[in-house]
Amino acid sequence: MKCTNCAREIEKGTGIMYVYRTGDISYYCSNKCMNNQLFLKRRTNRKLVVQPSKSTREKIKTAATAVKK
Ligand SMILES: [Zn+2]
Repeated sequence: MKCTNCAREIEKGTGIMYVYRTGDISYYCSNKCMNNQLFLKRRTNRKLVVQPSKSTREKIKTAATAVKK
């Protein structure tokens, strides 16, 4: 399963399963992620951080082709 906060893959036997009174379940890879999500209302979505925007991807592409020449 994946961490609810940072979307990182959690190994079996590690991490925290948090069950709400409503029956919803959240998984957290670490205490840091759990505290961020539950008490500090922070969300570190790694996918959003890692993926560059379309314009930056174009820039990277043109830079790579320029180097080849
Ligand atoms: Zn996490």
